[in-house]
Amino acid sequence: MIVAPDKVVSIHYHAIDESGNIVDSNEDEAPLDYLHGYGNILQGLEDALAGLSEDGETKVRLTPKDAYGDYDPEMVFEVNQDQFPDGGSSLEEGAVVQSSDGMELLVTRVENDKVTLDANHPLSGKTLDFTLKVTAIRDATEEEIAHGHVHSHPHEPH
Ligand code: ZN
Repeated sequence: MIVAPDKVVSIHYHAIDESGNIVDSNEDEAPLDYLHGYGNILQGLEDALAGLSEDGETKVRLTPKDAYGDYDPEMVFEVNQDQFPDGGSSLEEGAVVQSSDGMELLVTRVENDKVTLDANHPLSGKTLDFTLKVTAIRDATEEEIAHGHVHSHPHEPH
């Protein structure tokens, strides 16, 4: 069996940025299961994985455009500290807060009752070298294909 549309593929991966730092990895965790062909992972990763068999390994370099986008300075903005539910007293640089619409925002500065928030993806602007290893491949169920994602946790509603 090879990686192709309508297969559930399990992978171990890590990504290295231009400085050689590992910025994303699941190698110490269970493999990631995804349904191939439905955009559940980055398109560039799907393209690199297509055609591999079980135990196959590949590397692919993704530019920001194909990974998490360019860093956008306009997605950095300032709000008043009192706009936070608890008055913002516990905020500190490096914390991640969630906006009312569920977006993750990085606190980059807290000063004089003003909080600077950065809505860019933490990996935006980075060219990433991914190493991908296929650990398992199986046929997706009809229900998974209908939903367009893996049902590895059948007790969870979706
Ligand atoms: Zn589902």
